[in-house]
Amino acid sequence: MTANTAPALLDLAPLGAGHFARIEDKVAALMRTRETVVAMQGEALLPLEACIRSAVRPGSTALNIITGPYGETFGGWLRSCGAEVIDLAAPFSGAVTAAQVADALRAHPAIDFVSLVHAEAATGNTNPVAEIGAVVREHGALLMLDAVASVAAEPLLTDEWGVDLCVIGGQKAMAGPAGVSAVSVSARAWERIAANEQAPRRSYLSLLDWKERWIDGGRTALPHAPAQLEMLALEQAVDRIEEDGLDGVIARHRAASAATRAGVRVLGAVAPYVVRDEDAAPVATTLRAPGGTDARDVVAAALAADASIPVQAAGGALAKEMIRVNHYGLDADRETVLGALSALAEGLQALGVSAGDRDEALAAAGKAWDAVIAG
Ligand SMILES: *Cc1c(COP(=O)(O)O)cnc(C)c1O
Repeated sequence: MTANTAPALLDLAPLGAGHFARIEDKVAALMRTRETVVAMQGEALLPLEACIRSAVRPGSTALNIITGPYGETFGGWLRSCGAEVIDLAAPFSGAVTAAQVADALRAHPAIDFVSLVHAEAATGNTNPVAEIGAVVREHGALLMLDAVASVAAEPLLTDEWGVDLCVIGGQKAMAGPAGVSAVSVSARAWERIAANEQAPRRSYLSLLDWKERWIDGGRTALPHAPAQLEMLALEQAVDRIEEDGLDGVIARHRAASAATRAGVRVLGAVAPYVVRDEDAAPVATTLRAPGGTDARDVVAAALAADASIPVQAAGGALAKEMIRVNHYGLDADRETVLGALSALAEGLQALGVSAGDRDEALAAAGKAWDAVIAG
C-alpha cells in the first residue's frame, strides 16, 4: 500500500493518558468549571443516565423539570432508581421559571436532586439556569443539567451557576463528534455518589469507576483503551471554538435564532412555537405549522425547494404541528439560515398557503442577523 492510499483514520499514534487528560481539561475550561470533568466514551445519553443512577437511590426525592422530551426520559430513570419523583412540567412554548422551582422545593422539602435541561433542541426553548441554580443551591439539593444543546450556543457557567452534574456532548453547537461526551462532577456530587450503595460500579455507567481508576490515581493510566477517534475529534472541536472565540460562536447562534424568528414573523403563516425571544434556544427555532396543514407536509415542500436545508418535522406527538429549523454548529451561518427561510417560503407557496413576501422576510432576517453580530 502506498502512503497516499493509507486510510487517514487508521494507524494513528496511541492516545496516551496525558493527552486524554489534556482534552478533559480543555473541555472543563469550555464548561467554565474547576471541578472534575470525566470524558465519557459514548453519546451524551451515557453520562446523563450515569449521573442519575449514580446520585439517586431509594429514599431520594427528585424534582424533574420537564420542558421537552429529554425531561421525560430522565423521569423514567429516576423512578427506576427508586426515587420519589415530583414532575414540574412547563409548556414547550416557554421556559420554566425560578419561582416555579422555588414553589416546588417549598412544597416538597425532601427534594435532594433536581434534573433540568438547559436548551432543548427538540422543542426550541431554553431555561434560565442561573436563577434556577441559585434557588436549588439555597435548598441544598444537587443540580444535574443537560447542557448538550446549549454548550457553545449560549453562555454555560457551570460553577458560577452551582451546577453539580453538567453534561455536554460534541454534536450540536460544538460541531464535533456524537460518540463522546463529558460530565463535570462537583465535590458535593462525588460525596453523594460515594455514599450511594446502589451507584453503578464495575459498569459502563459508572462514574465511580472513573474516579477510582483514573482521577484518584492522578490520571496517569487509562482504565480502558480510549475512543481515540472521537477524543481527537472532540479536541479539534474545542480547539476550533477557542480559535474562533467562544463569544463569536455564541453570537452566531444567537444571530441565527434572531434572524429565523424575524423572518418567519414577516412570513406570518408559520409562527415561532416559543413565544418570547428570551425563552428561545439559539440552537433551533421551532415553528407552528399553519392551520389546516401537517408540519411534515410543510417540511417536505420546503425540502423539495432546497434539499440541503436543516429543517425537519418534530418527533413523536408534536410531528403534525411543529416544524424544527436547526441552526447549530456549522449551520449557525447567515447563508444557511436565509436559505432555510427562502425554502420554507417557497414550500408554503407550493402548498397554497398564503404568506408574507419572501424577499421581505429575507431582508428582515438579514437585518436581525447583522444587528446581533454588530452587538
Ligand atoms: C441532542 C440532545 C441530547 C443528545 O441526544 P441525541 O438524541 O443523541 O442527539 C441530549 N440532550 C439534549 C437536550 C439534546 O438536545
